[in-house]
Amino acid sequence: MTPFEPIYLDYAATTPLDEDVLARMMPYFSKKFGNPSSIHSWGQQAERAIELARMSLAKQLNASPDEVIFTSCGTESDNLALRGTAFAMKKKISANRLVVSPLEHHAVSHTIQQLVDEFGFAVDILPVDQYGWVDPAAVKAMIRPDTALVSVIYANNEIGTIQPIAEIGAICREKNVPFHSDSVQAAAHLHIDVEHDQVDLLAIGAHKFYGPKGVGTLYLRKGTPYLSSLTGGKQESGLRAGTHNVPYIVGMAEAFRLAQESLVERREINLHWQNQIIQGVLRQIPDSLLTGHPSQRLPNHASFVFKGADGNRLLILLDQAGFACSSGSACKVGDPQPSEILLALGLSENWALGSLRVTTGKFTTQAHVDLFLEILPGLVEKARK
Ligand SMILES: *Cc1c(COP(=O)(O)O)cnc(C)c1O
Repeated sequence: MTPFEPIYLDYAATTPLDEDVLARMMPYFSKKFGNPSSIHSWGQQAERAIELARMSLAKQLNASPDEVIFTSCGTESDNLALRGTAFAMKKKISANRLVVSPLEHHAVSHTIQQLVDEFGFAVDILPVDQYGWVDPAAVKAMIRPDTALVSVIYANNEIGTIQPIAEIGAICREKNVPFHSDSVQAAAHLHIDVEHDQVDLLAIGAHKFYGPKGVGTLYLRKGTPYLSSLTGGKQESGLRAGTHNVPYIVGMAEAFRLAQESLVERREINLHWQNQIIQGVLRQIPDSLLTGHPSQRLPNHASFVFKGADGNRLLILLDQAGFACSSGSACKVGDPQPSEILLALGLSENWALGSLRVTTGKFTTQAHVDLFLEILPGLVEKARK
């Protein structure tokens, strides 16, 4: 039993669906149930809804509506982007090398791995500094005539570091290599402008910004080599077949609009808590380190490692004390594996196994942050034994 309601500090894992967004979605489950591909009035009504959603998303991203493709999640958007462009570039100019950061989400890194293991691609991994920051000059140096694409995550889910996407975009443009960025975390907290950033492909997932789970967007710049790996009907101009999930698409567009319009206001309060959490943890807990960039990081994101601690145990202790947080590592009980991302920062296993991610959001209060900082030092000590 905890003396207070469980406190959710894991907004980077997922967010609750916004009530107004849910209200917008509801009619499309029942009364307005038409298939957007149908000719009749039900179909037209559903088609209007998804085209309005497309225009809204395009406007927020500074893209044109025909560059917005609806998918089933952020993971699918990453998969379609990487496979679609890698295969098309191979066919077009026999390019078979993939330049990628070592900080990609599994939706990217495992897709790249499959392209390497099964489809004859080779991968060039970009160097990063101790904060997980990719130097644009390193991208420039790594691109070769046979590079099929570059993929750099916009902002990392585990360590919060924001990458210099516009600078990398400019280099890829100059070298004429398609540039993909996994923006699933970034979309909730940063203003994304595909012209300013000069990206060719972007992945977005709605559930990270108070939209529904199971729906995403792929931004695909006009003229980018792309081969659809979801074939079937003519939906999405043949670029991604499958009957549209109308209510979820409507919800995603509304949630994205609300998220983008509240960026500044949310940023301020989140930064306030981030600062308290980072200072509080580093001051109170010996042998603790902030992971990721000290300033170029997502505003709601604080992540740490505690030397000699068992990160998995710490999460369980926190859960028992009424706090939902996350660790960077994919450790399972019995076989703890340090996160590849933390190892890429140069941390040893002894540090990397003791990771913790704390992410704030819409329902966080000052009391939550205070209680968390009060309880954490004792729990870290227990997790070290
Ligand atoms: C959550 C996340 C994904 C996966 O998105 P889903 O919509 O959950 O499939 C991909 N990349 C990053 C950076 C994420 O945070």
